[in-house]
Amino acid sequence: MIILVINTGSSSLKYQLLEMEHETVLAVGVVERIGERKALVTHKGHPGLDQEKTFEQEQAVMDHRAGLHLVLDLIVDAERGVLTSTGEIDAVGHRVVQGGESFQQTRLINNQVMAAIRDCNPLAPLHNPANLVGIEVAAHLLPDVPQAAVFDTEFHQSMPPAAFLYPLPYSYYKDLAVRRYGFHGTSHKYVFGQAAAEMDRLPAQTNAITLHLGNGCSMAAVKNGKCIDTSMGMTPLAGLMMGTRSGDIDPAIIFHLAAEKGLGVDHISDLLNKESGLKGICGSNDMRDIRRQAAAGQARATLALEMFAYRIKKYIGAYCAVLGRVDTLVFTAGIGENDCQAREDICMGLEGLGIEIDPELNRKLQNRHGPVHRKTSRVQIRVVPTNEELQIARETKALLTRG
Ligand code: ADP
Repeated sequence: MIILVINTGSSSLKYQLLEMEHETVLAVGVVERIGERKALVTHKGHPGLDQEKTFEQEQAVMDHRAGLHLVLDLIVDAERGVLTSTGEIDAVGHRVVQGGESFQQTRLINNQVMAAIRDCNPLAPLHNPANLVGIEVAAHLLPDVPQAAVFDTEFHQSMPPAAFLYPLPYSYYKDLAVRRYGFHGTSHKYVFGQAAAEMDRLPAQTNAITLHLGNGCSMAAVKNGKCIDTSMGMTPLAGLMMGTRSGDIDPAIIFHLAAEKGLGVDHISDLLNKESGLKGICGSNDMRDIRRQAAAGQARATLALEMFAYRIKKYIGAYCAVLGRVDTLVFTAGIGENDCQAREDICMGLEGLGIEIDPELNRKLQNRHGPVHRKTSRVQIRVVPTNEELQIARETKALLTRG
């Protein structure tokens, strides 16, 4: 079975073509700056295996439809193509950011599903409309191929009301769908599944805390294979301190900024989403730069690192409390996979919770993958590289196989 995974942003289209029998990537790429005269197309056929097939070019790509057209041409290109015809594609899996309460699982796209995704647009105005454009152009260019929608929110739909409701007047939940949804669900589900498999445990009998630490950061508490709480909220602004997002703050700070500085909501939204987090404290949102700055003695960089780890520690404590028993802590994404110092700082001092990192194993970890706990640790600590595209392809395949 061959599955094309598509992730559309407002001006970009990322894709992966996977052969599912051996879960191998046949092609991967991205079209960026769609709508501009100098869009950038980067495409690799058999990445890592056949670097000569890498193709990079600046050219005008008017819209997403032109972008996907180009991608399909590259996939079947006589010279660098990996398929002889697009007829070999069995299904398309689309990443959709917000599925609201309508979508607890991956769905085959039809008019009704499209309408329900559109209904979720107010909850994700920057993302869902772009995801819908991706679905529309794929359905147009590959009309006979089944299309599936895989939602960033679906893994978190198992949260109980006590975890997903905000203590606001209940009518805001009923009338405006104001509640915690959580994001990065595809990543949390993937790394949880991989970790359970590596531990040789049944997912339905495994409890985990998963930590997706990239530019955006979120954590999930997974009990017997189901998510029971997560740190992002109605939007991705909530929870942990992130690259440029504040995460949890006292909401009254917003009124204070409006009153004292006369800032409007758009301004404050930009401030909290784009100028806060690590960047707000030390001026950079790139963990590698921040490490270099801290090593060079810059106090704000050291402070940013301390705050980052401290806030994650507090969430680990909270999730230990809600889970009761934790079998494994799973680190993933750019920082979680690569930054051994962050993992050490986060886990140090948690021995009382049964979490004992092995500093040497952690530092020497190869290929961003494997266990990093001491033999005596009650809770296993693992690094699992995330692979959201593969998870989307697996969900799509499972949907088609179920029929
Ligand atoms: P995104 O959320 O954009 O997908 P990523 O998962 O790629 O983000 O993570 C980006 C973050 O990972 C950045 O803060 C980056 O500095 C950090 N990162 C990537 N590689 C390393 C590394 N080797 N050491 C420390 N941090 C790293």
